[in-house]
Amino acid sequence: ATMPPLLSAIATAGRHGVLVKSAVVMERLGQVDAVALDKTGTLTEGTPRVTDICPLTGSGMSEQELLRLAAAAEHPSEHPLARAIVDAARIRNLDIPLVEDFASTPGAGVSAKVDGRAVAVGSPVRILDDSTGHPVIAVAAGLEQEGRTAVLVTLGGAPVGVLGIADRLREEAPVTVAALGELTGTAAVLVTGDNPRAAARLAAEVGITDVRAGLLPQDKVTAVQEMERAGRKVLVVGDGVNDAPALAAAHTGIAMGRAGSDLALETADAIVVRDELATVPAVVRLSRQARRLVV
Ligand code: ADP
Ligand code: MG
Repeated sequence: ATMPPLLSAIATAGRHGVLVKSAVVMERLGQVDAVALDKTGTLTEGTPRVTDICPLTGSGMSEQELLRLAAAAEHPSEHPLARAIVDAARIRNLDIPLVEDFASTPGAGVSAKVDGRAVAVGSPVRILDDSTGHPVIAVAAGLEQEGRTAVLVTLGGAPVGVLGIADRLREEAPVTVAALGELTGTAAVLVTGDNPRAAARLAAEVGITDVRAGLLPQDKVTAVQEMERAGRKVLVVGDGVNDAPALAAAHTGIAMGRAGSDLALETADAIVVRDELATVPAVVRLSRQARRLVV
């Protein structure tokens, strides 16, 4: 017997490295007419590196101690930024102590007790009130201006330093963004929890003009819902725990498999297993071809 077109398309998608979870999903992929893309781990490679270690002047903190505290607090986290910080500490042969009371807030950061002292690591504006005018905000802004993600570290509630973290753009990101724009007839939107400065810089490199930055997981959902209320069938592409609600709310959700969080992979309708972003427009095309054969 010949295979029904949608099942045959699922097999083809699989050969291209995309796991499409059902025939219904295979069919829906071809209906999308707008795309919202996550930044970190989706348009970027998802293997960020610590580039700057900046203890706050007067905090009495050394670079090593700052990194050690941050790595300890981040150790239980699966976030790509957390892995970057832990790797940086390992490369320097720092001892990473076990922590207590670990907690993580998607889109914001982590907190834990290190050596019995409270440590928080994460987005400067989520941890500190931007309007406080604390000198650490200027350090963070300087790093963000250069396209870095600035991560604030506090000890006992007081800022002690900032880490600069950078990730490389995926080589195929600009052509993929262009292809998705052409396929859907709508310019792609960037939805990111990262800071507006780093987001704008990356958006310019990939050719996106509609940038929504500093978003919490629920804000990503709101952005998608607004597009859908305007009559769009939105394809969301993301990788993080913070993307899971938007992946669920979207008409169709695709997760990046290699660096993707378990929650994103479970929630998404399809998974890019081979870590090639260019397969996203390819499966949309595949779906459209299959649908033409079905009808
Ligand atoms: P994106 O939407 O670009 O994938 P996230 O929503 O995962 O980014 O993260 C948004 C911001 O929240 C990060 O830029 C960082 O400032 C902060 N953040 C989230 N998780 C962590 C973490 N584990 N460690 C440090 N910072 C974090
Ligand atoms: Mg992400």
